[in-house]
Amino acid sequence: MFPLSVPPSGPLSVPPRWPARANELLSSGVVASVCEVCGRRPSVGMSISHSHRRTKRRWYPNVQRVRALVNGSPRRLYVCTSCLRAGKVVKAAR
Ligand SMILES: [Zn+2]
Repeated sequence: MFPLSVPPSGPLSVPPRWPARANELLSSGVVASVCEVCGRRPSVGMSISHSHRRTKRRWYPNVQRVRALVNGSPRRLYVCTSCLRAGKVVKAAR
């Protein structure tokens, strides 16, 4: 609509994008409780009191630390329990 008000497109004018994949977030150490297999992460919503005051709350996925085989070598992974139940990770032998 207003082409003059649009800033010139270039690599410097593009805002830094938040990384989409959970593994990038995990390696940067920003976000806690993210499944490394499916990328499940906390979802947000509102907790509503009896007087209907609304405050934000988060629901965390059930993420467990497991020793799993990744390319044949044991690694420590943070995996949600739905991925564990579905057998998406191979547990390392103790
Ligand atoms: Zn998962």
